[in-house]
Amino acid sequence: MIKVTKRSRIEDVANRWRRQYPELSDDKKPLFSVREGHQKQPKSALKIYRELCILDLSTATEDDVAEIIGNPSWTRLECECCESHVDSLLIIKSYNDSGVLICGDCLNLAVIAYSK
Ligand SMILES: [Zn+2]
Repeated sequence: MIKVTKRSRIEDVANRWRRQYPELSDDKKPLFSVREGHQKQPKSALKIYRELCILDLSTATEDDVAEIIGNPSWTRLECECCESHVDSLLIIKSYNDSGVLICGDCLNLAVIAYSK
């Protein structure tokens, strides 16, 4: 089990971006079109990575990251049980998949259900 917080998602965003887009050599090929009102012009994966690296990720906000990437999905934490957007959650991994993301409220409900 791994606890994930919004701050840890922000602090790790450049590394996760790098893993998602290991081929960052083409700075001319736009990666994204306009999405969710954050990004006016399409950017390449390399340009986004460079902007993330310049950002102080220890103090940056979700909006700072969303402005660079073009959407809030890289910092948003959504419980897979209740679909709430939360500040922290737990990843419960199983043997052969990436795991289930569960919020504190759903964890408490699970403990109560298990205890009955
Ligand atoms: Zn939940």
